[in-house]
Amino acid sequence: MGNFTETKENLLKLGFMCGVFVLATAARGDWLLVVVYLFRDYLQDLFPVSENEAKTDHVISLSRWRLQNLPLFIIFSVIVSFTMFWGMAWSWQWYYYIKRRDKSEEWKCQPNKFLSPKDERHEIMLGSLNMLLGSVASGIISCYIMNGGHTTLYYGILDRGLLYFLLSIPCFFLWIEVNAYYFHRLFHNPYLYKKVHKIHHRYHQPTAFSTTAMHPLEFTLHQSYLAIVPFVFPLHVGVFITLLLYVYYYGMCDHSGIKMDALWPWQPSSMFHDNHHRLFHVNFGFNSFLMDWLHDTLDKADREYGEDVFGGRGRPVKTGSR
Ligand SMILES: [Zn+2]
Ligand SMILES: [Zn+2]
Repeated sequence: MGNFTETKENLLKLGFMCGVFVLATAARGDWLLVVVYLFRDYLQDLFPVSENEAKTDHVISLSRWRLQNLPLFIIFSVIVSFTMFWGMAWSWQWYYYIKRRDKSEEWKCQPNKFLSPKDERHEIMLGSLNMLLGSVASGIISCYIMNGGHTTLYYGILDRGLLYFLLSIPCFFLWIEVNAYYFHRLFHNPYLYKKVHKIHHRYHQPTAFSTTAMHPLEFTLHQSYLAIVPFVFPLHVGVFITLLLYVYYYGMCDHSGIKMDALWPWQPSSMFHDNHHRLFHVNFGFNSFLMDWLHDTLDKADREYGEDVFGGRGRPVKTGSR
């Protein structure tokens, strides 16, 4: 009976993990990029551009900017992103934060510590505002590409050779990780921290909603080094989408507040970023230990950290308050 209950629990957990992976793709409107890449030709037949529209050369004409049917793209992007993202985040809330609240020592990174209702409302509002920005931007980019706009993404695995294809995977991964680390670390400079990044650190016990809950300026910056890729780097479309989904999926896990083991040797567990929220100026990376290891900014047991201890290396433990 015990085994059956355990299996049932594990299956439920697996179901939730799969759900999160699928739904994470919906956040910020990137699901639309996937649809556009896969069904580009079909969509062009479905939403044909009229002769008159195509010939229009006025500056405010959407077709002049390769943005025919833009409102449709944006409406779809916003509606689906919100429905899916909220569905996922609330499922986690219900499964862990409500149903298993009194057993938090079994599943929570910071047992028995929860955000105040005021901070929860704050992260939901701010996270949703940024999601709105992200899904509108994704709608515009998808629309542009679907209408034949310039892109450096390519479609055939062998178009640039197998070696290029294989090497582009770690290169794009590093591009994301290096940008994420340095931008994040920049925002931990005392001035920018207080003016901008402190908003994200208001959530000492983050939840899935915290993933996008940050100053809109910071959110835009983090989106920008991903958004320029389809216009600058020759990358296979599958590599681009798979790695985007991968980092979004881990972004959700990292902020969930739920203990999750790493799936890969280079991947930190969810405790890594949860500790960043608990200890503040340490563990700046997201998808690997690499940059923190290189810069000696990994969380150490013999150091103590706090919101006023800047620099990434903490200070020697005096009181044992950790
Ligand atoms: Zn931070
Ligand atoms: Zn965070």
